[in-house]
Amino acid sequence: MDLKEKLTILTNGAKYDVACTSSGTSRAGGKGMGSALPAGCCHSFAADGRCISLLKVLLSNACVYDCRYCVNRRSGDIPRATFTAAELAGLTVQFYRRNYIEGLFLSSAVLGTPDFTMEQMIRVLELLRHRHNFQGYIHAKAIPGAAPALLHRLGLLADRLSVNIELPSEDSLSRLAPDKTKGEIFASMGQIKGGLMENSRELTLYRGAPSFAAAGQATQMIIGASPETDYRILTLAADLYRKYELKRVFYSAYIPVAEDSLLPSVETKPPLLREHRLYQADFLLRRYGFAAGELLSEATPNFNPFLDPKGNWAVHNPHFFPVDVNRAALSALLRVPGIGPVSARRILTARKASRLGMAELREIGVVLKRAQYFILTADYPTGLRLSREAAVRALIDPGAYSLGREQLRLFSPAGPALPDVGAAANTSSPLPMSAGVGVAVTRPPSTFPDVRAAASAKEATEEVILCLTQNR
Ligand code: SF4
Repeated sequence: MDLKEKLTILTNGAKYDVACTSSGTSRAGGKGMGSALPAGCCHSFAADGRCISLLKVLLSNACVYDCRYCVNRRSGDIPRATFTAAELAGLTVQFYRRNYIEGLFLSSAVLGTPDFTMEQMIRVLELLRHRHNFQGYIHAKAIPGAAPALLHRLGLLADRLSVNIELPSEDSLSRLAPDKTKGEIFASMGQIKGGLMENSRELTLYRGAPSFAAAGQATQMIIGASPETDYRILTLAADLYRKYELKRVFYSAYIPVAEDSLLPSVETKPPLLREHRLYQADFLLRRYGFAAGELLSEATPNFNPFLDPKGNWAVHNPHFFPVDVNRAALSALLRVPGIGPVSARRILTARKASRLGMAELREIGVVLKRAQYFILTADYPTGLRLSREAAVRALIDPGAYSLGREQLRLFSPAGPALPDVGAAANTSSPLPMSAGVGVAVTRPPSTFPDVRAAASAKEATEEVILCLTQNR
C-alpha cells in the first residue's frame, strides 16, 4: 500500500475525533522549524461539515478493540493501514514545509496492546522533535491502560495530551466499549494531572526543565450514542474539570457508522443542536461561573432547544434581574444575556469614569438586543419595561432552525431543518416569565409545540414564541 492510500485511510479514520484545538501553548520556533502559537494550528472543513485540524491522523486503524460505535473497531469491514514512525514524521514535516499544516493531531487505534501503540506514537514524536527539530504544536491521544512511564514520555514530547472518556457513564462504556474501563481512563487522566503539577514545580525551580504537556489535557465524550441526559453529561464534565483540571471537554455528536441493536439506527441524524447546547453550557461552566446544577436538574434534565442555556437560565430566574450595570459585581454582570466576560470587564473599567447608559454599553460591546430586558442603566434607572414576548423573541435562538445544525455536505440540497424537539423539548422546564420580567407562570412541559409540523422556519418560530409567551 502506498503512502497516499495510507494517508487517505488514516485521516478518514481520524475525522470523528473532535478534540483538536491547539489553544493554550505558545512557543517560538527559535532555531528549529515551526512554532506553536496560542492562536492555534490551521483548521479545515471536512466533507461532512466538521471543522478539523490538519494534520489530524491515526497512526493505525487496525484496532484490536471492538467499540461498537467506532468505524475502526475490530469487527468493522474497512481497509486497514498503519504508518511506520518514519513515514508519519516525514509526512508531517513535508506538509508543514508546504504550509498545509501548523501542527499534528496524532491518535491511534489500539495496535496489539496499549503499550506497543504508545511506543510507536512516541517514536513518531521523537523523530519529529529530535531528528527534524519540529517545534510545531502536537496534540497526542494517550491510550488508556498503557504503562505510566510511556505516558510520561509522551507528555514530554507533546503540547497537549488527551484521554478519551468516550461515553458519559460506566454502564454505557461496558455495553458499547467492553475492552475499555473507567478505571484505566481515570487513572491515565490522574497521572497526567500529577505530571502537570510536578512539572510546574520543576519549572519554578529550574526554568530550563523540560515541559510536560504544556497545553494541559483534554477529553472527548460521544453524545447521543447512549441514553444519558444532558444533565448527566454536564455534571460529569464539571467533575472532570474539577478533579483532573482539564482544559477542555469536547462533545462529539454521534454519527452512526453501522446498524447495531445497542445504538441509534443508521438513519439517525447526528444530534448537532444538542452538541451545540452542551458547548454553550460548557462555556458557562468555565468562563461565566455557572454550576451544572443551575442550568439543569434531575427534574429538567435536557436543554431547551429553542433558548441557549444562558437565556434559558435568565427567563427561569426572573428574581435575579434587573441587574444594575453601574453597581453589580462581575459575577452578576456575567449572568446577563448579551454580556460576556470581555464586555463585563470593560463595564467594570468604564464605570469608574462615568455612569453607563445604553449608548456606552453598546460601545463597550454589550449585545443590547438581548441584555436590555435584564438591566438598569443610567438613562433607564428603572429598566425598559419591555413586554415578555419581546424578551422571548430576542432570546430565542435562530440557530435552532438553521441549516447550520445539520451535518450537511457542501452540495446538499437546502431544505427546512427544524429541530427535533421531541424528548428534549417535552422535558424542558417551564418558563416562569410574565408581562415584564419578574412574574412566574408555569407551562406544562407536555405542551411544547412540535415545530416539525410547521411549514417553514418562520412559522415554527412564531409557534414557539406564542407557546413561550402565552403559557399554552
Ligand atoms: S479503541 Fe475503540 S474507539 Fe479507539 S479505535 Fe479502537 S475501536 Fe475505535
